[in-house]
Parts: sequence; C-alpha cells; structure tokens
Amino acid sequence: MTFIDQLAVYAVKHGSTHGVLPSLIIAQGILESGSGTSELAKNANNLFGIKKGTGWTGEVYSKCTGEYDKSGKYFEINADFRKYPSFEGAVIDLCNKYANGIPGEKTNRYAAVINEKDYKRVTQAVYAAGYATDPKYPSKLTSIIEKNNLTKYDKEVIQLVKIYLDAGHGGSDPGAVGNGLKEKDITLTLAKRVEALLRNYQDVQTKMSRTSDTYPSLADRTNDANKWGADFFMSFHVNAGGGTGYEDFVYPGSSKSISYQSIIHAEIIKNIGGLVNRGKKQADYHVLRETKMPSILTECGFIDSSSDAALLKQDEFINGLAQGHVDGLVKAFGLKKKEGTEMAEQKLTEAQEAIRQEAIRLKITDGNDPFRMVNQFYAWAVTIPQAQKIEQLEKRIAELDKKLK
Ligand SMILES: [Zn+2]
Repeated sequence: MTFIDQLAVYAVKHGSTHGVLPSLIIAQGILESGSGTSELAKNANNLFGIKKGTGWTGEVYSKCTGEYDKSGKYFEINADFRKYPSFEGAVIDLCNKYANGIPGEKTNRYAAVINEKDYKRVTQAVYAAGYATDPKYPSKLTSIIEKNNLTKYDKEVIQLVKIYLDAGHGGSDPGAVGNGLKEKDITLTLAKRVEALLRNYQDVQTKMSRTSDTYPSLADRTNDANKWGADFFMSFHVNAGGGTGYEDFVYPGSSKSISYQSIIHAEIIKNIGGLVNRGKKQADYHVLRETKMPSILTECGFIDSSSDAALLKQDEFINGLAQGHVDGLVKAFGLKKKEGTEMAEQKLTEAQEAIRQEAIRLKITDGNDPFRMVNQFYAWAVTIPQAQKIEQLEKRIAELDKKLK
C-alpha cells in the first residue's frame, strides 16, 4: 500500500464528515511529511507539521524547524509538535483544526476551507488563513494534487446540497389577498416549516430569502441565491384570479428543472388532500429565469377561492403542504435522515452530558448535531458562558421593566 492509498482512506473518511476536501488533506500530507518519511511523521505520526499550540493535552515531540519571517527570510527555530498514536489521528486533528478554528479565536479563520469543493480555492484558503508561511504553499499543493490525480478522492465525499427557500412577497408587498388571508404570510409560514423539516436531514444546507415580514426585491432574491451557490431554488406562492387548486412552474425548456419538477410535483400532490391538481407548468418568471441553478415556483392554492382559503387556514393543511415540498426535495436530491441516535449512542461522560444539556437549554444546539461530535463540546463550552450572561441580563431587564411599570 502506497502512502497515498493509506492516507486517502482517512482523508475520505474524515474529510467527508468535516467538509474538508480529501485532495487537500492528502496533498498536505505529501508535502508536509515528505510522503511519510519526515522525522515528525516517523517519530510522532505528525503528517501535517501541526505544532503543540494551546489546549493540546496529548503527547508532544520537539524538533528544530524552518520558518519564513514576514519579509520572506528563512530562519530555524526549536518547536514542540503534536504526537499522534497513528496517521489517522493526524488526519482527524487536521480536520478538527479546519472545522473548529483555533481555540480562543472569535471566528474560525479556516471557515473558507470548510465545504469548499474547488481544490485551487481550498489551497488558497488554507494559506490565506495562515496555515503556512511559505508563499509558494498553495501552488505547491495544487501541483501535487494535479500530478497525483488526487481530485478522484474528492468525488467520494458526500456532497452538500444547498437549497434556497424563497418565501414569495413580504413587507410592503402582501402578494395576493382574499378571504382574510395574505399570500406573504402563508409563503413565510410554509418556507419556515420546510426549513425546519429539512434540518432533520444530513448534508443539506438551507438559506431563506427572508425570515420575517420584509420585502427583498426579486433581483435581491436571485442574486443572493446565485452568490450563495445554491443547488436548487424553491419559491413559495399562493395563487389568485378565480381558479382553484395547486400548480407549479419551472423555466421553459430547462431540462434539469423539469426533471426536478416531476419528482417534487408528485410528492406535493400526495400531501394536499382535496386540493385540485392543476398540473406541471412552465413560465418565464424572474426567479426562474435569473437563477443560475435549477428552480421551481409553487402556487399553493387560490387565496380568492373560498374552498382553497378554508384549507389554507388549517394548520394541518399547511403542514401537509410543507411536508410535500420536503418529500419532493428529499427524493430529488437523495437526502438522508439524520441519525438522531448518533449522539445518544456515544458514551458521554457525566461532565459532557451536563454541558450538552446546558447547551440544549440555552438553545445553542438541539443536542443532536451528528457532525463534529466530540469537538462540539469545545464550541459549546465557549458559547455557554456567553449565553448564560445574556440570559442573566435579560432577567434583570425584565425585572427592571416590572419595577418601572
Ligand atoms: Zn405570488
């Protein structure tokens, strides 16, 4: 087994759970450890030249190392490095470093590394974050990736699906109105329920065009989705004009959108009970035309039809509609349910469980994030005192408020 074969197993396994590109991990291993032949690799399994730093409780290995100062001048210095039980330990530690950043820093300096799918951009991001001082570091990594065809391992990583949820209208624009209902309220409720339901699935990210009663312009919405790099755009609407029933629209002739529409439409229809199915349609709407990714616009009943409006007033019906949209997305993108048991199955120490419960109470987490489980404790430990302080302040403000009244 070559060094690359050996490292690739760990890079794919841990890169996929942390959102770190395997080709980056392998190239860094090759470069930093001379393909596993360096003193650090041999004596400490340290493939990435990670120094001891703060908060490291594991073993340490000391050696002389070369560095560049800010003017680009080379010098040598004695430094402490992390010692791992295996190469895999080094890969896990590197992934954690990228996923969590450096302890004590307010923001994660490696945030741009996470979920970056482009190997050229990711090598730049690592250098820009200050991982290495050698100005040629990114070009060295990209040439290693290209020479060894390392991007083939990136394809094995589970890809994250980014879904943009657009609640139609809002703010000064109520959309259609009728029977005491406003389109803007229904679309927001629907979009929020879809967003909440999607949180139960793995490897999916959502972004909403609005989360309250505001009006982003149509261009704001499509620009935002394009900039974010959404994989799919879903726009929620309610119809008016004297008809009845459900229908959805995609951009005329867009083959990808049309195939997603078939899947999503079928799932929504299963969930709308007595509402008429008006079919799958195509239209040249702004949000369908100006989005760079496949998109759909759903018209969920007619607000000016008394029978449709009666349904739209029922919470159960809205839930069904939201579930239909989610079922469609799940089928279209092959989404898998999060394993809620993953955290529970982990054997937690009493102290860890106490931290988890406090983090749940303060609404920092639902306690079930299947990602970065162990290091999550670090993030929680940092955020809990801040959330507790805010909680105290809120209590005092509420007391003062009472006194004033
Ligand atoms: Zn509308």
